[in-house]
Order: sequence, then structure tokens, then C-alpha cells
Amino acid sequence: MFFCLEKKTLHFKQPAGTSRGVYTERKIWLICLSDGEREGVGECAPLPDLSCDALPDETYEAKLRQFCEAFCQTGEIDYDAMRDYPSMLFGLETAVLDVTCKKEDGRSLLFDTPFSRGEEGIPINGLVWMGRYDEMLQRLEEKLEKGFRCVKLKIGAIDFEQELDLVKRIRDRFSFHEVELRLDANGAFAYEEALYKLELLSQYAIHSIEQPIKQGQWAYMAELCRESPLPIALDEELIGVNDPEMKGHMLNIIKPRYIILKPSLHGGMQGCREWIEAAKAQGIGSWITSALESNIGLNAIAQFASDVYGPHITMPQGLGTGQLFTDNIPMPLEIRGDKLFLDIRT
Ligand SMILES: [Mg+2]
Repeated sequence: MFFCLEKKTLHFKQPAGTSRGVYTERKIWLICLSDGEREGVGECAPLPDLSCDALPDETYEAKLRQFCEAFCQTGEIDYDAMRDYPSMLFGLETAVLDVTCKKEDGRSLLFDTPFSRGEEGIPINGLVWMGRYDEMLQRLEEKLEKGFRCVKLKIGAIDFEQELDLVKRIRDRFSFHEVELRLDANGAFAYEEALYKLELLSQYAIHSIEQPIKQGQWAYMAELCRESPLPIALDEELIGVNDPEMKGHMLNIIKPRYIILKPSLHGGMQGCREWIEAAKAQGIGSWITSALESNIGLNAIAQFASDVYGPHITMPQGLGTGQLFTDNIPMPLEIRGDKLFLDIRT
């Protein structure tokens, strides 16, 4: 096998407000693998300040090059060595699947599933970005008009009373049978006020809330999971917990209702499978979401989700980030209603 690396900068159509500030552009590395005949591409997309393997560009690229060279020499992914570099691992896993998998109509079946063959879609949640109250209300209404029946609202950015009012307004108009509402606080609540806020929010039949307090406070988070009337999901908490035994250990201490898996951040595909197994063993649910990857990464994440949870996924996944960039890499991914399709029709 041979490889080359290509560094790319993607540009957001609108600045993307996240828990770590506002992004206007996004750096990624593409791994292109070739066996002389066939080619495969995978995306490495670390998030600055968030990924456990976000390194200065040159250090990142040098490390990635090392892993790719090792793979090309041995023909095997060294999972032990790559465990602490989830975005690199995910990119390499994708490239390896892509170069070796079955192709159909010029498309790569990274996993041979009904989704990958274009036969069925994966239900996704509509994502409403942080913003001013009136902006968020407008974005939410757009999502509902497009046919989403599960909406994820990023909260913790504006005044809590206003956010509570926004949630109330949604519930005044749409019952929980019509719209499943997920919240993501991205660690915004202080521990002392978190339970009070969760109790207020719980009046409005919320499906779950991600990461009410900052990660790294296992005892506090465990207490919230025990006391909260609202189901809690872990997201940032999983970052950097890469050891398989530690995964089960952490879940056993915190006992969340759900975990949210992002292959670029949470251990690549292999690491996410470990998380899913550890969660299942303890009766904890999970779903998969993308983390601002280009379509190369999004395609791989969606096909991966269809393999681990499919066929016929009913729980909405977080795969609606495909239309964020002005210069995304073209892929036949398409959202129809509230489902993501890998559209084989041309
Ligand atoms: Mg989150």
C-alpha cells in the first residue's frame, strides 16, 4: 500500500458557535491510500481545543504520517498505538475500509448495509445552533417545516429564562408525540444550579440533555444522573477516556442514561464499538453523531452507524451537519424529510 496526505481548509457558510467558541473555518487531513489499483480516502478532523489529539498542525501531520507509514508496512492498523489519537484512527479506518470494500455504482460500501446501498435512510435530529432567542426560534421553525420530528437545541449560551421560555413555546405548539426535544448544554451549567435547572426543564417532556456540567467531575455528574428528573447523556465526558476497561468503569460510576458517540473524538470506529458494548452491558443507550467533518467523514460515520445500529434504525442520530461548508467535498448524501440518505440514484 501507498499513502499520501492532503491538508484542507473548509469554510463555514455561517460561523459555527460551539462550546469552544466560534469557528469560521475548519482544518482537516485526508488520507489517500492506494494498493496500485484501488484507492481509498479517509478524513482526520480533530477539533481544536476539544479533541484529545488536537496538536499543532506540523506535529499532528508528522504523527499521522508515522501511523500511515506503519500501516503501509504491516498492512494492519496498530490499535494500541493509535488509541490516544482518535481522529487519526478514524481517518485511517475509513481509508482502509474504502480501499478494500465492495464498490457499487461508483460508490463505496464501507459497510454492506441497506443505508450504504441507498435503500433506506437514517433518521436524524435537526440541529438548532446557539444564537439569540429570536434566531433560535426561527431556526427551530425552519427545522419543523422541513419535517424533522426530533430537534436538538444547543442551550447554555443565552439567558436561562429565555431558553426555558423557548422550550416552553415549542411545547405549547408541539406535543412530545409530535416533536422529540433533545438539549445540549455543552457543560454550561454550574454544578450548584444544575439540578434546579434540570428540574425546571423537565416540565417540558425533554428526551435528554447532553453534558449539563463540564466534564471531569465524575462524582458531581453521578449525583446529577441519580437525582435528575431529566435523562442525562454524556458527550465531552467521553473524550480522552480511551482505555477499554476505563470506559466501563466510568459508565459504572456515572451511570448516565445515554452516551453520544463521535468517532473522530471518541476512539474512531473501534473505540466507539467498545463504548457501545460497555454501555449495552450496563443498560445505557447510545447514538452516533458527526462532529463537523466534511462529507468524507460524515459518509463514513453514517455508514458506520448503519452497521452498528441497523438495519431499520428508529432512534434519530446526529448526522445533520452536512450542509455547513461552502466548499464541502461532494458526496451523494442527501437529507429527505428527517432522514439522511446515501442517494445512489443519479
Ligand atoms: Mg454535545
